[in-house]
Amino acid sequence: MRIQEFQKRIEEIYFERDSARGLAGTHMWFCEEVGELTRALRRGQRDELEGEFADVLAWLSTLASIAGVDLQAAATGKYAAGCPRCRETPCNCG
Ligand SMILES: [Zn+2]
Repeated sequence: MRIQEFQKRIEEIYFERDSARGLAGTHMWFCEEVGELTRALRRGQRDELEGEFADVLAWLSTLASIAGVDLQAAATGKYAAGCPRCRETPCNCG
């Protein structure tokens, strides 16, 4: 599944509810999920980690949708050519 397909899938599942909640409220949920990911990283349990990464990506996707951002286009536009600052791969920024 590509980033664009994932964002569309998350829209199908959650967009109505998340957009009604709005950007600020949904951003709070996103931050809470990032906190859960942080705890999972500390504990280092593999199955828990994968779930938390998936949740953070899902909440990031729904935030992008509410903000009208195409995540795949944004990510590709910024990083496909390498580091956005030095344009090198790997990054050579001091
Ligand atoms: Zn760089």
